[in-house]
Amino acid sequence: MEQLLHTAVKYVAGVGEVRAALLERELSIRTIGDLLDCFPFRYIDRTRIWPIADITENEAPTYVQLRARVTGVAYAGTGRKQRFTVTVQDATGRTELVWFRGIKWIEKRIEVGREYLVFGRPTFYRGELQLAHPEVETMEQALSRKAEGGMQGIYPSTEKLASALGTKGMYRIVCNAWALLRGRIPDPLPEALRRTYGLVDLHDAYRNIHFPQSPELLRQAQYRLKFDELLGIQLGVQSRRTERMARQNGFLFPKVGELFTAFYNEQLPFPLTGAQKRVIKEIRGDTVSGFQMNRLLQGDVGSGKTLVALMSMLLAVDNGYQACIMAPTEILARQHYASFLRFLRGLPVRAAILTGASKAKERREALEGIASGEVQLLVGTHALIEDRVQFRNLGFVVIDEQHRFGVEQRARLWTKNRRPPHILVMTATPIPRTLAMTLYGDLDVSVIDELPPGRQPIRTYHYTDSARLRLWGFLRQQIARGRQAYIVYPLIQESEAMDYKDLTDGYEAVSRDFPLPDYVVAICHGKMKPADKEESMRQFKEGEAQILVATSVIEVGVDVPNATVMVIESAERFGLSQLHQLRGRVGRGGEQSYCILMSGEKLSRESRARLDAMCETTDGFRLAELDLKLRGAGDVNGTLQSGMAFDLKIANPTRDVQILTVTREAAAAVLAADPDLTQPAHAGLAALRSRHAARETVDFSQIS
Ligand code: ADP
Ligand code: MG
Repeated sequence: MEQLLHTAVKYVAGVGEVRAALLERELSIRTIGDLLDCFPFRYIDRTRIWPIADITENEAPTYVQLRARVTGVAYAGTGRKQRFTVTVQDATGRTELVWFRGIKWIEKRIEVGREYLVFGRPTFYRGELQLAHPEVETMEQALSRKAEGGMQGIYPSTEKLASALGTKGMYRIVCNAWALLRGRIPDPLPEALRRTYGLVDLHDAYRNIHFPQSPELLRQAQYRLKFDELLGIQLGVQSRRTERMARQNGFLFPKVGELFTAFYNEQLPFPLTGAQKRVIKEIRGDTVSGFQMNRLLQGDVGSGKTLVALMSMLLAVDNGYQACIMAPTEILARQHYASFLRFLRGLPVRAAILTGASKAKERREALEGIASGEVQLLVGTHALIEDRVQFRNLGFVVIDEQHRFGVEQRARLWTKNRRPPHILVMTATPIPRTLAMTLYGDLDVSVIDELPPGRQPIRTYHYTDSARLRLWGFLRQQIARGRQAYIVYPLIQESEAMDYKDLTDGYEAVSRDFPLPDYVVAICHGKMKPADKEESMRQFKEGEAQILVATSVIEVGVDVPNATVMVIESAERFGLSQLHQLRGRVGRGGEQSYCILMSGEKLSRESRARLDAMCETTDGFRLAELDLKLRGAGDVNGTLQSGMAFDLKIANPTRDVQILTVTREAAAAVLAADPDLTQPAHAGLAALRSRHAARETVDFSQIS
């Protein structure tokens, strides 16, 4: 039975080699099981018949169903430009159905004078309603077809798939696969568990998700499938936690030694915030517990996470271990390194840096120094993960600003010592706390929920291009007061070339309006040589340049407290969390700071909501929640995944909080009775667990 689910999808009627390749490329569907796991994202009511006159350009639904009589057919064009048009009419009006392909096939099925049930996507051509490549059935056929509960699933598709399979293509393939399976779908959940949580069996769930018999049955099917998904994740995270806690092999940092104390008493330029102190205590608690620490530190931008990292690293050094911090970008690594050197001046500790761009000498010093143990603190990018990086005795690892990290990546860091080092992952991508605790169940979560004192909330404004002169005036005024400004341009991969053009055009315009010798404008983007990037950052950091024109490379971490203005160009093209990150580059000193969101006049409702939210609040956690609300389900998963690296197909952890809670309990109960899931009745659960574990991935491309 299992085997059938693992059979290649090409064997399903209507698929074949070519479409199978397409399904794999476009939707990663390889097996029949994958196909069944491709759920409709929406259902349409097939019992509703639209009067033609009611379908207007202003309020047309995505799909309509008509019942209309054919009054005429027409052919136009030849060869590739060929077109077959069918005019249909109901009591309220008339419209045209058009085919550009498969004309031979469809023309045989159309008979003038006959009544058809037509289903398709309404489009408007010069204001006239038209349906291209609709499905048509004679009324006899339609009536003889057993009504499928009235609801028909709309499947995810891509342009290529749609043109190869047609509107109903996916649906038809799923039907064929279903027929092939003949209901043989094993259920991974023991019956007792299904009964306890009121779950329908998996077979019924699959049937009703694809062919809902009623809205209620559909709801039950969705509940069951979400349950399985979240349960699989819970089993995984809880097992890992148990494993870690069973090992009792965490390095011990029993003493608060000279370095830490000297730093605290002599070097620290300001008092720690209460939240910073609390988190350091939590970390200290972990490092004397005997267990290996796996801690997630969430703190809004500017909350002072770096200092917490540094102080924890000093604890490790005091106890004879090495520590490292891994940053997502070259710029950020350099910045951390510079600020560490500043903070640690005069203290008996040696730090080094290693990045992909490190020159031979720097690289050699870092590699030799950490191998011999002379270097105790290593700062770097993901170059730190490489195999040739061999520590003498790595005890503590910090992963900074990682929006996408996973078990695999942590695991690679673990292998840097005989026993896994303690790991602290820091992020400003705020995921609501309860959610983070549940989903990162194998991590402990700390939160810095307090900004250093004296910070004034950043004022955020939304301007359109017509206000540019005013903006320039404002910048001059700020610069005259000795302040600095960022101007950021979007960089979105698909249109990279255009984005760079916007950026360089922007840079030229800014340089013209802020000319030498009064002003220095620096530029920084990912395509520059590391040395040039570094020079630009240096100029800006040291106040030689008043304006830094940049792409979102500066999104994370960059810290120039004298900068008080963040101008974000084409702000509508950024996501909410990215806007918030960018805004976090200012407001880091005592001065009033400003964030100016520039956009065109015309905005989609969603973009407007995002920009409004930015103007209304500076609370990252609130924005994160709002962001989740604003986005569609698929996208939400995208965001969360980028934080968690879980690939959820149907569950939405923000909306399905109740299921999340229940599955957490269920997983705990099952694991309490059978920690390794070795009981025969739990074989399905074990499979569910590894299935989701296998999906946890790390996207290293996200780390530049
Ligand atoms: P983030 O949490 O975004 O990484 P940083 O660690 O970059 O924030 O800190 C932001 C700024 O706040 C830095 O300039 C840092 O030196 C400063 N800072 C950190 N902790 C404190 C504190 N307790 N009091 C005052 N300033 C602080
Ligand atoms: Mg930071």
